[in-house]
Amino acid sequence: MCKFRDHCGIFGISGCPDAAVKTYMGLYALQHRGQESAGIVVSDGENLNEKKGLGLVSQVFGSPDQLVELEGDAAIGHVRYSTTGSTTFANCQPFMINYKRGQIAGSHNGNLINAAGLRSEMESEGSIFRTTTDTEVILHLLAKSPKHTTPESVADALSKVEGAFSILFLTPEYLIAARGPRGVRPLVMTEVDGRVAFASETCAFDLLDLPRGRSLEPGEVVIVDRKGSIESFFPFPKVKSAACIFEFIYFSRPDSRIFDTNVDKIRRRMGHRLAIEQPADADIVISVPDSSNTAALGFSRESGIPFELGLIRNHYIGRTFIQPRQAIRDFGSRIKYNPVRGVLYNKRVVVVDDSIVRGTTSKALNSIIRQAGAKEIHLRVASPPIKHPCYYGIDTPTYDQLVASYSSVEETARYIGADSLGYLSLEGMLAIDELPKIGFCDACFSGNYPIPRVDEASKEKMNSC
Ligand code: SF4
Repeated sequence: MCKFRDHCGIFGISGCPDAAVKTYMGLYALQHRGQESAGIVVSDGENLNEKKGLGLVSQVFGSPDQLVELEGDAAIGHVRYSTTGSTTFANCQPFMINYKRGQIAGSHNGNLINAAGLRSEMESEGSIFRTTTDTEVILHLLAKSPKHTTPESVADALSKVEGAFSILFLTPEYLIAARGPRGVRPLVMTEVDGRVAFASETCAFDLLDLPRGRSLEPGEVVIVDRKGSIESFFPFPKVKSAACIFEFIYFSRPDSRIFDTNVDKIRRRMGHRLAIEQPADADIVISVPDSSNTAALGFSRESGIPFELGLIRNHYIGRTFIQPRQAIRDFGSRIKYNPVRGVLYNKRVVVVDDSIVRGTTSKALNSIIRQAGAKEIHLRVASPPIKHPCYYGIDTPTYDQLVASYSSVEETARYIGADSLGYLSLEGMLAIDELPKIGFCDACFSGNYPIPRVDEASKEKMNSC
């Protein structure tokens, strides 16, 4: 069961005879960013072809050798984790359209805060939408652009949207990548021997034995043509960067490099800092696998309390258990984690978690740990309390469901059944030396939203990715 919904992964490659297979592998590495649908669009230089569906990459495509019908030397792909109500085939990405300049497909990670307003404007002018996603709004803007070339139309369309986006477009002639002016969502790029690839995280490049490359700059658009020539430009007015700090806390894999910084290094430092700020008298440190493993190691190193594997995660839970209903959520925690009784029995346990959202997962886990015989549970959270919703591509719940927005730390500890609870402070997190020297978004902790919430309806009506 995932604490957050609506985050996505994107991958694209050009100059590669088996582009669909490479994209399949790239998406496989990015599966943690979205498990509800997967899709690939491929270009053979004249036409685009697509295959997409609901489910994991392996369920949608089978094995890589089943991708023979997707022939071409450039491709883009997408994995999506949407709110359950919007999990329909129509909303699977990449989206592909035919417009006045031919075919174009798009894969998007982020959330456009003015999407609902733009959509109703276009609908009143007669536009017809097939999906409820904000990504389709971008494709409509592109189709309506008066500019004469595809790259110009892309820049023109993206200059009209506000919010967070990392996006890939594929046409028969071009592979185009763009990172929004604030650089909220990550997007990395690599090139070797005429092949150029883009991905949400570098773990996708590792699997393909590609160099780790570099992060696209906030506001950077990169265009790759069929000859492999690369053009980079910055069409948007310069604004302050607001990279999502939660990518370091939870979303990205620890073996990835995002914002030109290793995730593992930052997550470990968060654990160190947490141990200094929120010490606990205990016998063992355990993590909530897998996302808290690295922070728990950091906590253990700094505190000198031995790290143990106290919870074992079942990795083979299907989509059945990714459900919004509370009863199924609780069952999801039980089936996902099993306690190691020999490790926990009669012990004072520090449980390191990466974050607390509703508090329901922590409550279920603490009950499991206590039933296994733990004497005391001291929950330490390697991020500050989440008090505010995210409007930039992560579907955090509303205020009334964010436990830290309506409960004190002591009340939360009582609710989740912990003997003590301590969070990493916002100041402490931002003071970690190893963080890249860029501007961060920390709005879900601080309430300081870097992009004005001009269109509340977009969060309510539109599905982001
Ligand atoms: S509000 Fe939180 S989750 Fe959303 S972009 Fe900002 S830091 Fe990331």
